Amino acid sequence: MDDGSLIQSAYMDYQSTTPLDERVLAAMMPYLTTKFGNPHSAEHRFGWEAEVALDVAREQVAKVVGAQAETITFLSGATEANNLALKGVLDVWGEKQPHLITVATEHKCVLEAAVSWERRGFNVTFLPVGRNGLIDLKQLKASITSETALVSVMAVNNEIGVIHPLHEIGALCREKEVLFHTDAAQAYGKIPIAVDKMNIDFMSISAHKIYGPKGIGALYRRRSHKTALEPQMLGGGQEGGLRAGTQAPALVAGFGKAAQICGQEMAQEEGRLRTMMIRLIAGLKKAAPGMIINGDTGSRWIGNLNVCFPGLDGDRLFADVRGLAVSSGAACASATTGPSYVLEAIGLSDSEAKSSLRLGIGRQTTDGEIDYAISKISEAVAKQGGCSKEGFTK
Ligand SMILES: *Cc1c(COP(=O)(O)O)cnc(C)c1O
Repeated sequence: MDDGSLIQSAYMDYQSTTPLDERVLAAMMPYLTTKFGNPHSAEHRFGWEAEVALDVAREQVAKVVGAQAETITFLSGATEANNLALKGVLDVWGEKQPHLITVATEHKCVLEAAVSWERRGFNVTFLPVGRNGLIDLKQLKASITSETALVSVMAVNNEIGVIHPLHEIGALCREKEVLFHTDAAQAYGKIPIAVDKMNIDFMSISAHKIYGPKGIGALYRRRSHKTALEPQMLGGGQEGGLRAGTQAPALVAGFGKAAQICGQEMAQEEGRLRTMMIRLIAGLKKAAPGMIINGDTGSRWIGNLNVCFPGLDGDRLFADVRGLAVSSGAACASATTGPSYVLEAIGLSDSEAKSSLRLGIGRQTTDGEIDYAISKISEAVAKQGGCSKEGFTK
């Protein structure tokens, strides 16, 4: 099909993963080739060389959030980090303080790890969110009891992009003396985070959401007796005994480089994305005046747009925008499954959720791709007779 431009497809799924930055690949190459040693081999040069990669990257990853290198544990990704935080706290504190508080719109891996508390017979509070996708801080405060060990609230939601008030949540957790974990896979390197100022005790990070390689991530852990975690992977005592298994110097080096770049270019990148996002929203609004943005319009990550086209047939909409790599929700929620639980949690009906698209933009997005997305979606909307009615009110 010829839409007048050279672009025939556009990647707009930056919340599911991001392309590897070429500077990251360059940082990884030595550890995939000549510097192949095992960082745990303390007896020779090959081991030392690889260990340097870990040391450098630990500094780089920590620095972005104002942390010390020794608070960073490398592991396979945010899924593992979330599992380690939730299950590690459960194993240490479960008998004494058997209550966990989390949120209905968390990533599946947090929700599933939370279920492991319930399986042990402990209590989990799944806080609801409002129409704007955010929790009610008063409700969070009221939910904390003397039995609460941990509060786990994600920083930026992967489907609707809303940013939770980490500062306020951290202050509340500190006041109530409960531990605070945040899944920052969508936030780290994109919005300013300061672990000390925000009283964050644990934070999950994923490299492939920040233009780094897949298969690597980290858990930040504040060092104190309260934040001790029971390791979930036992073996050779790597990563200070918290996560056994031979470390992956190439992946770690790439992760470190990706973190460094995000830290250095955060403000500039945010500005570039903001300009493109404003254009995207304006273009879509013109084609579909009835379009509604899902989630809070103020407190949101600028690289995420989740929009509902009320009254349109979602299946047809998706079929008609083929060529545009967008999502109906999280990567795991494919066309064969039901509507997104996150969109349901903010009060959308089944059909409203199904006629919603998630558009993610990022470092490699071009103006041409924004135009392609606008024209593709405009055509698809026009094919169904337009979208001008208000489907529901905020
Ligand atoms: C991608 C993502 C994860 C999972 O991260 P992996 O590194 O792929 O395991 C967890 N939480 C959120 C919010 C995410 O966006």
